Amino acid sequence: NRIIVWHRRDLRIFDHSALAEAAKFADEIIPIFILDDDILLRREDFSPACVGFMLESLEALALSYANIGGKLIVRRGQVLEVLKSLVGETRAQAIYFNEDYEPFAKMRDQAVQSEFEKLGVRVKAFTDQVCFHPQRVLKDNGQPYTVFTPYQKKWLALSGNIPTPQPALTRISTPELPSIPLPKTSDIRKKFSVQPIVQGGEPKGLKRLRAFLSQNIYHYKELRDFPATNATSLLSADLRFGTLSIRHVFHESMRLVPQASEPAREGIQTFISELIWREFYFQILDHFPHVEKHSFKPEFENLKWENNEVFFEAWKNGQTGYPIVDAAMRALRQTGWMHNRLRMIVASFLTKDLLIDWRWGELYFMQHLIDGDLAANNGGWQWSASTGTDAQPYFRIFNPVLQSQKFDPKGEFIRKYVPELQAVPVRYIHFPAEILRKSPLLAREIGVALGKDYPHPIVEHKVQREKALRLYKAMP
Ligand code: FAD
Repeated sequence: NRIIVWHRRDLRIFDHSALAEAAKFADEIIPIFILDDDILLRREDFSPACVGFMLESLEALALSYANIGGKLIVRRGQVLEVLKSLVGETRAQAIYFNEDYEPFAKMRDQAVQSEFEKLGVRVKAFTDQVCFHPQRVLKDNGQPYTVFTPYQKKWLALSGNIPTPQPALTRISTPELPSIPLPKTSDIRKKFSVQPIVQGGEPKGLKRLRAFLSQNIYHYKELRDFPATNATSLLSADLRFGTLSIRHVFHESMRLVPQASEPAREGIQTFISELIWREFYFQILDHFPHVEKHSFKPEFENLKWENNEVFFEAWKNGQTGYPIVDAAMRALRQTGWMHNRLRMIVASFLTKDLLIDWRWGELYFMQHLIDGDLAANNGGWQWSASTGTDAQPYFRIFNPVLQSQKFDPKGEFIRKYVPELQAVPVRYIHFPAEILRKSPLLAREIGVALGKDYPHPIVEHKVQREKALRLYKAMP
């Protein structure tokens, strides 16, 4: 009895739903990863940082399989063709994989299901990347939730049912089969000059999880909003590529609760709440797939964005004259990651100060993020643009200077990524344009030529805010 285990965004062997299930029934397991040309060559929303993380994770996955006597098979091409040929070569009776809730993946998996059913090969999909299948957490009337707080309440009420991780596999066997070498991660990194914030692979993910659980989780509530403190888990790419099991992350976090002091317990609860946001957006995408291209709230579909290309370039290049925005955008390009508070600030700035369509920003993020994930990214962008599930009315407009003063009070994060502002005193670091107005002499003393070394603000927040309000109010 042979079962194919098709890995996609679940690049680990520990507590892997499809693999654990296959191991119960199969004499031989055929783990495969397909380098899918439809994604690698044709999709413009898959960043080099993601490709790098994925390849590192695949190298580690191959090693994990080798350690338990198996072998990861890697092939390249069109998914249906590759699977058909593998079934032909191995006479496998079944194909197992873990569910994926993106519209593209659902279509692909549907095609695989119907094709192989015709051939008499069993196809089974398992819930793996979330604690709860999107159909599990529903309102009492059976409808999906569209507001986070009640969703979270229901999720927590059900959380006693989240399965504990399955025991680690110690031995499997794989038939001898041809496999292609993986492309070299270093080539990709060189080509795109990303210095990623994290490296891929299950062992690295487990190490990151342990490090976070040993310290930062306890302070998560107080510190998670301050980019310079590096207080968040940095697990987003692991969860995106499934190098960690979400059930494992959940249970390991909850295990700390009984011994934790009250503030530490709040840290753990706040962290769990972020994991629930992640699931909330998966279920939004699953139930409302139109969000991939359109506003969740239909009334905001036809907002008259100004879509000024010069402003868009300035935003992308970290040259807006608003240091917190510029630091965040430069960090993204350099490291493939951006802190959540900064994602909210730059997304609000793009949509409500520059009046640019959230979809432009969403795509740019996907092209640069190491954790780029359709559900979370789309959810975050639509939340920031007020076109999404946020229960607040549209007038949540961040003031980039106040946000900067509050969340990077000493300007440490700014100075790291906008070195030309190194010498600017804290008083002016959040809005250096003010130096010229208040103290031209100081501007000369600190040696920053505003408008030359660092740009003047490309827009005035107060003016743009009014424009944004008019833009949204014009909608029916
Ligand atoms: P932590 O603060 O340690 O959070 C733990 C985990 O919870 C994260 O790893 C992530 O899986 C999940 N999580 C946390 N916040 C959110 C959230 N608001 N929505 C969904 N999941 C969350 N997250 C992505 O994983 N991929 C994206 O492409 C993405 N794009 C975003 C775009 C915008 C405009 C915004 C505002 C947020 C976006 N987020 C995205 C959510 C969040 O910013 C990142 O998950 C977080 O910054 C990752 O860092 P971390 O692992 O240290 O997070």
